[in-house]
Amino acid sequence: IMPTHLRFRRRSFLGLVFLFSLSTSALYFIYSAPGIVNEYLFMVQATGIQIKQNVRNIGAQVLEQVVRGGYSLNGTDYAYDFNVSESDVPVTTYLPGGFTYLPAQICPERLPSMKGRLEVNMSEIALEEVERFLLNSEPSMSLGGHWKPTDCVPHWKVAILVPFRNRHEHLPILLRHLVPTLQRQRLQFAFYVVEQVGDEPFNRAMLFNVGFREAMKDLDWDCLVFHDVDHLLENDRNYYGCGDMPRHFAVKLNKYSYMLPYNEFFGGVSGLTVEQFKKINGFPNAFWGWGGEDDDLWNRVQYANYTVSRPPGEVGRYMSIPHHHRGEVQFLGRYTLLRRSKERQGLDGLNNLHYSPLVSRRLLYTNISVSLSRKLAPIADYY
Ligand code: BGC
Repeated sequence: IMPTHLRFRRRSFLGLVFLFSLSTSALYFIYSAPGIVNEYLFMVQATGIQIKQNVRNIGAQVLEQVVRGGYSLNGTDYAYDFNVSESDVPVTTYLPGGFTYLPAQICPERLPSMKGRLEVNMSEIALEEVERFLLNSEPSMSLGGHWKPTDCVPHWKVAILVPFRNRHEHLPILLRHLVPTLQRQRLQFAFYVVEQVGDEPFNRAMLFNVGFREAMKDLDWDCLVFHDVDHLLENDRNYYGCGDMPRHFAVKLNKYSYMLPYNEFFGGVSGLTVEQFKKINGFPNAFWGWGGEDDDLWNRVQYANYTVSRPPGEVGRYMSIPHHHRGEVQFLGRYTLLRRSKERQGLDGLNNLHYSPLVSRRLLYTNISVSLSRKLAPIADYY
């Protein structure tokens, strides 16, 4: 048996050898794999940027709460939850795997094929490749991206409206992700991409009004989904059908650290039945530039006595595709307009909208190009 002091010495010697080999292998690693090290440093930096971005977003939302404090309307069935568990919708509420339904029956809303959490693939891809892939797997898709299930009667006929300008790299990513999901949800659907041409500030709301009018010429849709091109849902149990109440689908966005930025937030992806949309006179046309039009829609919905419904828990999670370029200009006058949402509702919307579209059919969507100007939706001064 070795004396105690020698045992300690031996241990510290072995420790030194260990540390030495660790540091030499670290050095070796640094010298031999600069690519990996750079990548690591990049990740650290990117995480830093992301944290900074999140802090900025949260700060902006706190400010938002203060600014809107005076006039916001509260109606939603949604309860804030800070629970990050991923499986909050009990599996048992979904139909079991072997469940069969008849072609003459309405498609169930909670199908066994809706498994929950989805892989989100944001890598860029050519539109032609997505067309090939989607048409191969579902040859029954027809021009304009029309599809309906044949093993049951779709519960909803959903027009997916996508406002668009300069985001050509995003559209194939969205289609690759969303089309198979909607097919699994057994909805009848088609995509309408409404593209703003010309130099006016982006008018997301007016594009939705145009998309609605054009889509209704195509088919007797009963449900409308207003969808940003860069939003990808993370859960296929986020059912894109409509209901008794207007729906806000995009509740938890990665860019807002998966928290609802404020109670009245109605942006990203929302849905109304055609009946609800007509009743509220559609979107406002007066919001030129980024921001506010979704808040105005929220107000319209409240004034029509609806209560916005939202998916629970983690079902409403979305990721947004990072942009290559700067966003659209902010609409700074939005708070002034929002103070008069109620007065404007009957004057500005579907009922004062005129436009001349250029419609073309693509394999996966209908493209509606429209040049927008203030003259197309004239209303008296309401400031
Ligand atoms: C804008 C909304 C936007 C929200 C979240 C608000 O300031 O008015 O249009 O959806 O911020 O980004």
